[in-house]
Amino acid sequence: MQKKQVKTLRLILGDQLNDRHSWFKQVNPDVIYCMMEIRSETDYVKHHIQKVIGFFAAMRCFSDAIKQQGHQVIYLKIDDPANRQTFTRNILYLIETEGIDRFEYQEADEYRVEVELNQLCTLLPVPSDKTCSEHFFTERDAMQELFPGQEKIVMESFYRMLRRKHNILMEGTKPLFGQWNFDQQNRKKLPAAEQPPEPLLFQHDVRAIYASIQEAGIETMGSVNPANFTWPLNREESLRLLSYFIQHGLKKFGTYQDAMTTSSWAVYHSRLSFSLNVKLLDPLEVIQQAVAAYTQQPEEIAYNQLEGFVRQILGWREYMRAMYWKLMPDFSFMNFFQHQRALPTWFWNGKTQMRCLHHAIQQSLEQAYAHHIQRLMLTGNFLLLAEIAPDEVDAWYLGIYMDALEWVEITNTRGMSQYADGGLIATKPYISSAAYIQKMSSYCSGCYYLPEQKIGERACPMNSLYWRFLHQHQDKLQKNPRMAMMYQVWNKMTPDTQQELLTQANAYLTNIENL
Ligand code: FAD
Ligand code: SF4
Repeated sequence: MQKKQVKTLRLILGDQLNDRHSWFKQVNPDVIYCMMEIRSETDYVKHHIQKVIGFFAAMRCFSDAIKQQGHQVIYLKIDDPANRQTFTRNILYLIETEGIDRFEYQEADEYRVEVELNQLCTLLPVPSDKTCSEHFFTERDAMQELFPGQEKIVMESFYRMLRRKHNILMEGTKPLFGQWNFDQQNRKKLPAAEQPPEPLLFQHDVRAIYASIQEAGIETMGSVNPANFTWPLNREESLRLLSYFIQHGLKKFGTYQDAMTTSSWAVYHSRLSFSLNVKLLDPLEVIQQAVAAYTQQPEEIAYNQLEGFVRQILGWREYMRAMYWKLMPDFSFMNFFQHQRALPTWFWNGKTQMRCLHHAIQQSLEQAYAHHIQRLMLTGNFLLLAEIAPDEVDAWYLGIYMDALEWVEITNTRGMSQYADGGLIATKPYISSAAYIQKMSSYCSGCYYLPEQKIGERACPMNSLYWRFLHQHQDKLQKNPRMAMMYQVWNKMTPDTQQELLTQANAYLTNIENL
């Protein structure tokens, strides 16, 4: 008697567009892949319209690409009448209607999705199996494996460990050029005459997807030109974006990685995060290509630029993912400072007289992108100083950016930016007054507020809010050696000056909607 073939259903999530995965090495007529555009994913937070379009469009491209390779795919579009709009309902439905004997999925990056899929497996009438997503350098439990029993693990130790483990930028057991960190040579202000390259933009007509999103009534934020959608949507475009960055951005990446300017919205940043996070690119290939470019043209690309870039991918990106899986789900409830204030409504439209924030928010609404320092030292800094509730902060960052997936959003927002975890990720709160913003950007000239002024009608709100924050949280922060200098300055002020600053800051907070 002929043995019955086992019919397998494999789920591909919207951020698993990885055609190098071992799943796709062979075409198997007994395997059906399924992909779905579902309301439970579009509605768990209000997303930027470009993000929803970008995910759907990239998923559709991916489905077409693997179909062309001969794989069978069931693709449920958002408006498909058969679409039950959640992973659970769709998979149960497909298992029944397609006569499926087995269900397989790749580990999800986001805790919410992982919980749903694990629960789904307990409901299935067929066996199931979970496999690795084959994307990251480390496993999810990397922190337990590499630093067993250690509660606080700083990024630098983790990064060095991975450099050694994967032999990246190493000379035997020592870091290349005898140094792990070249930050001192990096992080300069952009000179007025310096013009960063124009961002590489693609051209896609996504009007049909846009229309179906509108028709479905999905609530979104931000703007888009659906006749000319500019994000990379497939592997070929993602590789082109990588080459473009290596050719034009890498040589000045480190130097200007903290610079902010009104003359360029991406400066020398790569804009690769969307392609990386949906796995159209592998972190290893990104690093390898950057290292190869440096090796071929060391006179063009100085080592500090390369190391600064590798640190972001091998260091910060992997570290955030490992910390996410170490700390979730408790992490998502942490609120070290007990901040409770609502997000100002102008975060949804950019209408503020604070030029730096106006610019960063407006840009985020238009491009679904802001670079790291805009996220950390402009919006993040203000939200922390203004005591905004971390849940509201998370919802904003998780919605607005093209690259926002919870594993890398919440660790950066609640951890690095808002210090809501009490210092599990960052070694100190990233806060600044106007002095830093003025030093690193071109925003302050032309601002309604005056960066040098601390008191008065047009004093920059960042100044008094900065001192108020330090004062409010003195009991929690003053023992941190990295905060000692700031508290020395605060403690040297006369009580009258301190009171004036606190009164000014309180007035700004009372009037936060009108800043
Ligand atoms: P580049 O500056 O060119 O850096 C190269 C790559 O390094 C990035 O593509 C990214 O993959 C990685 N990288 C750099 N910094 C970090 C970091 N701190 N954590 C993890 N990876 C990093 N990144 C996201 O991918 N998704 C998010 O939702 C997200 N939310 C953030 C929220 C806040 C408050 C902050 C401060 C940072 C956030 N980041 C997030 C990290 C970082 O800002 C973005 O990865 C980066 O701005 C993406 O732009 P890029 O590709 O041009 O990065
Ligand atoms: Fe921002 Fe203050 Fe500078 Fe205005 S003066 S741009 S509010 S830092």
